Amino acid sequence: MDSGKHMAIGALLGFGGYLLYKFIKEESPNLIEALLSLTGGAIVGLLPDLLEPARNPNHRSLFHSSVILALIAYGNYRVWQNGNLSENQKLALSLLSSAYGSHLIADSTTTKGLPLLF
Ligand SMILES: [Zn+2]
Repeated sequence: MDSGKHMAIGALLGFGGYLLYKFIKEESPNLIEALLSLTGGAIVGLLPDLLEPARNPNHRSLFHSSVILALIAYGNYRVWQNGNLSENQKLALSLLSSAYGSHLIADSTTTKGLPLLF
């Protein structure tokens, strides 16, 4: 999948997740936070290919693995249980990690799929 699609998916996830959170909490969206969610999602949505550039068809390794995707899901679960983080910190971590996860899920739909670990 090309970089533009990964960035678009990450941006939509970051921005959409932010708006959904604000809607559920019955809070007004903040323009700066919305823009940060959009751009942060776009950049982090591309991160796996920055860590493991697509120089050959077998470039997907640890940072593109199913294990990393599972760790991201577990990390999100733990973040929301952490009483030392503010709601905004939890939201930011979840949106950014979800953008990373969106890259892996999108890549998993391709013929090559994702490796389990390497
Ligand atoms: Zn990739």
